[in-house]
Amino acid sequence: MEKILHKKNLGEWVAQLGAYDVQTPVFGDDAWSYQALGDGQTPRLDHPNTVEPPKGFHFPQREVFYTYRQVSGEAPVLDSTVPDPATTVVFGVRPCDGRGVPCNDRVFSGEMEDPYYRARRSGTILIGLACNKPPSANCFCLAVGGSPHSDDGLDILMTDLENRYAVKALTDQGAALVTLAEPLFGEPGDRDRKDLEETHALSRQHPQRTLPDMEAVPGRLEAEFDSPLWSEMARACIGCGICTFLCPTCHCFDITDEVTGSTPLEGRRVRTWDTCQFPDFTMHSSGHNPRPDCGSRLRQRVCHKFLYFFENHGTHQCVGCGRCITECPVGIDIVAIVNRVAGHAK
Ligand code: SF4
Ligand code: SF4
Repeated sequence: MEKILHKKNLGEWVAQLGAYDVQTPVFGDDAWSYQALGDGQTPRLDHPNTVEPPKGFHFPQREVFYTYRQVSGEAPVLDSTVPDPATTVVFGVRPCDGRGVPCNDRVFSGEMEDPYYRARRSGTILIGLACNKPPSANCFCLAVGGSPHSDDGLDILMTDLENRYAVKALTDQGAALVTLAEPLFGEPGDRDRKDLEETHALSRQHPQRTLPDMEAVPGRLEAEFDSPLWSEMARACIGCGICTFLCPTCHCFDITDEVTGSTPLEGRRVRTWDTCQFPDFTMHSSGHNPRPDCGSRLRQRVCHKFLYFFENHGTHQCVGCGRCITECPVGIDIVAIVNRVAGHAK
């Protein structure tokens, strides 16, 4: 389904989605983040990209799996907290972040399905916004097989055509959102189709960061596994984990039990994001740590993106959003690293 929405009708469309929890990019405290719209607020779709990707809608930073309660001498009682499929609509998802969603689906909805992820994923509708210009100086979606107007992982793709949006519904859930406010939308004419084609073609011509031949990268990483380059490139790393927490495809987590009462015994089992950039991520109970330094941990992050995930799923686990570069407090740059390991840079 392809439609045209005049910009003056965007607010009305959002207003008609009142049954949903509508989240849009909002600027505040010097950063863009997804937030619920207040009454009468219209989404601003002129954002560069949010600091946090939308992965938290499917895979929150912290979630309770179940609570438990055990009276002395009795069997424990568990109360599972699998969420009801929410009805959240997220506006303004950039195409790179959309492509991150199928990456995470491969992990959480593969042979072993994660019911918590599945419930949230099935109830979240992602409305993408094509990037007419790269929203960051560190974008490299083209180098990793994406595009500024990719519709992978999205339910709707919108493209800004100056005074109107081209709106393409890609799934039944996306089409339902358009149908719900049908009178606001028009049919695309020849001029709209031509403008859309030209806008998309132009968006692919804007300069982006580049990577070497990606087919060769897994082999290069394997060959350089024991290279001293890793320690050298990680010298400035402070192990903060920002590069992974802000990555749309990083998905590592820890599970802990939190005791909240002792008589009777009460508590909850909680999942929280974790990161391969923390020393205790791989710490064994013996005290041995197979990744004892920042160099081995940086290698793990890069190899997971461009070697291990590729071997397991046939695709790279990086969508080129550039957040790990932009937000790293010490300037560690995954594009520069891959180029260096591939022998394309000093
Ligand atoms: S964001 Fe930078 S400093 Fe922090 S763990 Fe990642 S590479 Fe290291
Ligand atoms: S590795 Fe960096 S550039 Fe690639 S998807 Fe993750 S945050 Fe974005």
